[in-house]
Amino acid sequence: MRFSEFGLTTLKEVPAEAEIVSHQLMLRAGLVRRLASGLFTWMPIGLRILRKVETVVREEMDRAGALELLMPAVQPAELWEESGRWDQYGPLLLRMQDRHDRNFCFGPTHEEVITDIARRELRSYKQLPVNFYQVQTKFRDEIRPRFGVMRAREFIMKDAYSFDIDQAGLQASYEKMHAAYSAIFTRLGLKFRVVDADSGEIGGSRSQEFHVLADSGEDAIAYCDADRYASNVETAATFPASAPRPAAAQSLEKIATPGVRTIEDLCRLLDILPSQTIKTLIVDGSDGPVALVLRGDHELNAVKTQKLDGIASPLTMADTATIVKATGSEPGSLGPVGLDMPVYFDHAVARLADFSCGANEVGHHYTGVNFGRDLPEPQTVDIRNVVVGDPTPGGKGTLSITRGIEVGHIFQLGDKYSTAMGATVQDPKGKNQVMSMGCYGIGITRIVGAAIEQNHDENGIIWPGPLAPFDVVLVPINLQRSDVVREAAEALYEELTASGLDVLFDDRDARPGVKFADAELIGIPHRLVISERNLAAGELEYRHRSESESRNLKREEALKLLENSSVS
Ligand code: ATP
Ligand code: MG
Repeated sequence: MRFSEFGLTTLKEVPAEAEIVSHQLMLRAGLVRRLASGLFTWMPIGLRILRKVETVVREEMDRAGALELLMPAVQPAELWEESGRWDQYGPLLLRMQDRHDRNFCFGPTHEEVITDIARRELRSYKQLPVNFYQVQTKFRDEIRPRFGVMRAREFIMKDAYSFDIDQAGLQASYEKMHAAYSAIFTRLGLKFRVVDADSGEIGGSRSQEFHVLADSGEDAIAYCDADRYASNVETAATFPASAPRPAAAQSLEKIATPGVRTIEDLCRLLDILPSQTIKTLIVDGSDGPVALVLRGDHELNAVKTQKLDGIASPLTMADTATIVKATGSEPGSLGPVGLDMPVYFDHAVARLADFSCGANEVGHHYTGVNFGRDLPEPQTVDIRNVVVGDPTPGGKGTLSITRGIEVGHIFQLGDKYSTAMGATVQDPKGKNQVMSMGCYGIGITRIVGAAIEQNHDENGIIWPGPLAPFDVVLVPINLQRSDVVREAAEALYEELTASGLDVLFDDRDARPGVKFADAELIGIPHRLVISERNLAAGELEYRHRSESESRNLKREEALKLLENSSVS
């Protein structure tokens, strides 16, 4: 590709609307352009990268025996009513009507459509197992589209759906996808981790996420290499403490705490640590409000909490009017002593003695609170986020926490959709058997942003070879004025292209500094500079994007290096 014909515009300035580096670099390098909130055009250079991702994904899915198909993006409401999700899915689902006032949605995912295909097309166990996949546009009306293509509203997903005769079959199909996903992210040159996850809106039992590790990741991941454990913090479990509780040393005292509304305020006033306090949160429950009690320095975990009996899902904080009515007090002065509603205590709270909490009276708190004296012995549950140093489920190690970007998610759905929608096949005895389903998603467009988060420096993107829009960039010096340079550059361009490399020939009439800066910004792995001086010595100047120094190579050496790098 000749740069002059490629219509690429790069930007020097960092666009103000972009919060994280991948979004900034994608805009600066001209990969995408924003149309509206969460909607992006993939420009020619960005599309080349997207296609490379898709190619690797397709190759590995095909290798795993999955069959590609293409379903409509727009889906009829009737199917979503059958699965029950028309009512459950909420505002993430973009709903629309056709000219006959019939309801449709723009698919955020395709379980319903594929289950409809399966119940029509699959008749016998002999047709199983089967795994259908597609690479297709999804729409989710995200509450906060941000980070460019990473949390967009319209995005491209590879989604796959497996059908098996029983749970053992599903397990095998799931393992195959686990292996295929690992192969995909390894081939793409990304540092990733597989973590246990919540099944969320999709439903089902077992699920794991594939995360690209990056500080800007929206997800926190708890892991312990010693224990070979990794889980999204959303689902990582905490356990009742084994150590005994210290004995009570203080007496219960009610003190005036005017203006104290937060744990921080309370700690400042009493000169104590947040871990010596507890906080009480009131949420909606099935029979009125429910209290959740956590240590002051711990964070509530919504995903785990909303699975508890009697608690509304999704977890919803009670409004102030409800709190005032139920407690006679306001948020900021709440506590479990004398509270008249169901209370869930977090495991860690049971270890506390002589702690402080709100007194259910505005501007008042208790100090010296103790279980078994001021409060009944608590039954405890797991409702907080894990923190660094918490024990692992295996008990052999302690947790560290890192951040990740979810690029893939695999689920064992079981019979959730196949039962609801009547997707059965005949088993060997001629009996109808509900199929076991799995579903497997990869965020194709998100991968591009995630790869940049992981691979960049102050000058721009550093593409892992398999993702690079071009393998090599040719930068001729004085192209417009030197016949020697022109001839050498044209010959090199032809030769490299013929050998199967994607070559960007920077034939613009621009200063070398401008060309170098663009090549670095775009992140092309290999750069060859062609100048009269080097040509006279039969040499080219070579630099890899991840190296700080260039070196001169004989022309033949340079060609061999590029061909051997087998960049794609
Ligand atoms: P998230 O937790 O990030 O909202 P999700 O768990 O809802 O994602 P899945 O239903 O598991 O997403 O979808 C499969 C994959 O699609 C995700 O692993 C992610 O890579 C991608 N994806 C999901 N939502 C978006 C989005 N808004 N923009 C870009 N990619 C997305
Ligand atoms: Mg997910």
